[in-house]
Amino acid sequence: MKFDVLTLFPEMINQACSHSIIARGIESGVIEINAVNPRDFTKDKHKKVDDTPFGGGAGMVLMCQPYFDCFDSIEKDNNTEVIILSPQGQTFNQKMSCKLAEKKHIIMICGHYEGFDERIKLYTKAKEVSIGDYVLTGGELPALCMIDSISRNIDGFLGKIDSAHYDSFADGLLEYPQYTKPREYYGLSVPEVLVGGNHLEIAKWRRKQQMLVTLKKRPDLFEKFQKKCENKEDLKLLNEVIKEFQI
Ligand code: SAM
Repeated sequence: MKFDVLTLFPEMINQACSHSIIARGIESGVIEINAVNPRDFTKDKHKKVDDTPFGGGAGMVLMCQPYFDCFDSIEKDNNTEVIILSPQGQTFNQKMSCKLAEKKHIIMICGHYEGFDERIKLYTKAKEVSIGDYVLTGGELPALCMIDSISRNIDGFLGKIDSAHYDSFADGLLEYPQYTKPREYYGLSVPEVLVGGNHLEIAKWRRKQQMLVTLKKRPDLFEKFQKKCENKEDLKLLNEVIKEFQI
């Protein structure tokens, strides 16, 4: 997967992507991340990328020319997805992340200051994506969140693809509680079933915990899961969970 990020602050992208699992993904060639700066495409001798808004008002608006030319400099094909980061866009979630992970090339356009001249969205035919109902100073952190999440869903990115399969949201439920050594700490012990070696029982316990945790923390997700659930084993566990929760 190739990510091209249009940003006035390429060092934010490059620096954040030079650590840990993302850096390993780049090294192994599973992902490629290029930060391109629209400021390098200005025709203005002062390298101006923004100007005051028509009609008046506070702040500076990103100008068409540097963004159009920067966008045009990137090679695209039929499999290229173009995303513009905006608090007004569709909210990013795990489902969108998995869908985007099937693409070969994603262009992300980061805004700053008051945001974009509207014509940048029209010219690039970009899909507007938000990472939540709050406003940040720029699109770099949202782009990084998306790159991180999408990459985790690309086959071969994580050491064991299984680790993404059991993550929260993967099948509509949150993840079960995890424990590691020691077995007891400050009087708090690990559930007995996890140290008993019975893998069938462990799997059953974890599945039930996923349901319990989701019911407690995210009743909205639990309700959706409950409505769609057709698996016999899951239905049995669901009944147990609902009964226990009502007691
Ligand atoms: N004036 C804009 C508005 O009210 O819709 C907000 C501009 S914001 C200060 C500057 C840039 O940060 C945006 O153009 C966008 O690229 C990015 N940004 C801010 N919040 C975001 C969010 N929740 N999701 C995605 N991008 C965001």
